[in-house]
Amino acid sequence: MQRGWHFLQIPGPSNTPQRVLKAMSSPTVDHRGPEFGKVTLEILNKVKEVFQTSGDVIIYPSSGTGAWEAALVNLFQPGDKLLSYESGHFSTLWKNLAKKIGLDVHEIPGDWRSGVQAERIAENLKQDSGHEIKGVMVVHNETSTGITSDIKAVRKVLDEVKHPALLLVDVVSSLGTTSFPQDKWGVDVAICASQKGFMLPPGLGFNSINKKALEASIKNVSLNSYWNWERIVEMNQTGYYPYTPASNMLFGLNEAIDMLFEEGLENVCQRHKRHAQATREAAQIWGLENQCLVPDEHSDSTTALIVNDGKADILRKIALEKLNMSLGTGLGKLKGKIFRIGHLGDFNDLMLCGTLAGVEMGLELAKIPHQKGGVQAAMDYLTGN
Ligand SMILES: *Cc1c(COP(=O)(O)O)cnc(C)c1O
Repeated sequence: MQRGWHFLQIPGPSNTPQRVLKAMSSPTVDHRGPEFGKVTLEILNKVKEVFQTSGDVIIYPSSGTGAWEAALVNLFQPGDKLLSYESGHFSTLWKNLAKKIGLDVHEIPGDWRSGVQAERIAENLKQDSGHEIKGVMVVHNETSTGITSDIKAVRKVLDEVKHPALLLVDVVSSLGTTSFPQDKWGVDVAICASQKGFMLPPGLGFNSINKKALEASIKNVSLNSYWNWERIVEMNQTGYYPYTPASNMLFGLNEAIDMLFEEGLENVCQRHKRHAQATREAAQIWGLENQCLVPDEHSDSTTALIVNDGKADILRKIALEKLNMSLGTGLGKLKGKIFRIGHLGDFNDLMLCGTLAGVEMGLELAKIPHQKGGVQAAMDYLTGN
């Protein structure tokens, strides 16, 4: 029997604010009626500001995985060559999906402890003088490792090498937590989902696309899919969809974007940065090693900490059963080796302190060697900054 609220401290889905839940609880509407078109137009205009793009944002009733697939099938045909960078579990899943649908992906291997090294992408592109590589796939914030990569640097090497490949970036756990100005950074396609920085439940997938990407999809002769951008963009002009959209999720999105704008996107990012730093202050006192080895690449939405002797899952089990808190599991080859603290979305200082207190108590209960005082260090950081 557990009283009080559950601490959902996985790095997505994040906590959904009451305001968003309330907006979602409105009655189901006629998605071809006059009111719905108006609301959709409003949402589509506002969501562009979140991506900081003048392009089109396509919103699917899907998870992030669907949005990954959508981007790939719109732009490429089976046999097309792509370059991907292994940053962790999510980059691996995306690459595997691309291979399954017949794309010829060359993956630059990574160590899961540092972000994308743009110069290694440059090396590969320089060797491709015939411009056979049609796209470059990178993950902005690798949620499985708590590592954020420098997307500007990737754009820069594409420009320097003068390579025409499209740049596809997964921003599922960075949008709404970490600065991501899509147009300024020259990202052709940004892929996102609703359940992280957008503070919504899972259920919406996003493809934010520029002109170059839309034109490439229109030229794609093998494209014949539910995911087809062109049809959706066309119908979106008047605020409608070629299929039944997830209307109540869209109402929630409308409210969530208002919340992001009320706070200010920059302030939202600063808040996440501050909570991430406070979390690392605690981890340092505990003596737990961060999965991310590069100081500039620490994620603002997720902190992944290493627990020796495979005790990470014991810690998570105790946190859940005794303290009513969910912590993120180690994914892929990190299973059992790390646990992840999600500090993203609708989140404040005391929620962070509660979360960190739960981790510190969990470490004690799981008999994992650590030094006490991590929560104090985090509180000191929060009060001092
Ligand atoms: C959560 C996440 C996804 C999500 O995919 P789902 O299909 O919604 O589970 C993709 N990429 C990253 C980086 C993520 O953090």
